[in-house]
Amino acid sequence: MIIALLVLCWIGATADALRYNPVSREVVEARLGKYTGANKQREATLKQMFAEAGCDDRQLSEQPVKGSKLPNVICLLPGNSDRVIIVGAHFDRVSEGDGVVDNWSGASLLPSLYEAVKTEPHKHTYIFIGFTDEEQGEVGSRFYARQMTKEQVAATDAMVNMDTLGLGSTEVWASHSDKRLASALAYLAKQLSFPIAAVNVEQVGSSDAEQFSERKIPRITIHSLTQETWNARILHTSKDKLSVMRLDDYYQTYRLLAAYIAFLDQFAGAPAVPVTH
Ligand SMILES: [Zn+2]
Repeated sequence: MIIALLVLCWIGATADALRYNPVSREVVEARLGKYTGANKQREATLKQMFAEAGCDDRQLSEQPVKGSKLPNVICLLPGNSDRVIIVGAHFDRVSEGDGVVDNWSGASLLPSLYEAVKTEPHKHTYIFIGFTDEEQGEVGSRFYARQMTKEQVAATDAMVNMDTLGLGSTEVWASHSDKRLASALAYLAKQLSFPIAAVNVEQVGSSDAEQFSERKIPRITIHSLTQETWNARILHTSKDKLSVMRLDDYYQTYRLLAAYIAFLDQFAGAPAVPVTH
């Protein structure tokens, strides 16, 4: 309750000033449609989409990952302070199905989220990361989180992880998310009249954000699973195809996340002390 009130208090002064530029639904769906190929192809496609979104050679890199044949794909958007927000999603897939829901739905949003915030002034440096080999045990995210220096960990105010979007409206894995980050998303969704729900998915196992939690970095995982879609056994089966994606919900999730990462620039890392009015 205290956390929620602090969020409300803080947002009151700033929600009107939120500035971001979401890309069109056509762009989001065109990127989603490029899920084809094995992981190697998807890694190359993600890098290409970042480049087309304007992340140039100075800011776009491939990070070799020990234990994986493929690198993490990293696009850096410098800010004007030393604070950092990480936005991540795994691009790899299992061999069954097309791996659209799990997790091209998350990975292919990264360039569109980059575009949403790149032209507006921002304090935080955003690091957009496509992780390799989540399905092999969070190999890419583990490597990334463990190679961070103490200083980098201390500078990171939030890690936003997207895994398995578009099966329905936006969900938060609340039991595995920082309460302050989850409260902020819930409040923003309400302000924008977008649906949001807390759905815990312990049965799924884990996701990349947990590696950042190990370093005590505040993290949040966004997904779209419900008991119903879990029971339908879409993940890691031949049912994971573009045709199961609910594209209205998917674009709405993108819009909400674009607003959210813009909002986090103001909110994340702000002292959790109420302003005296
Ligand atoms: Zn996944």
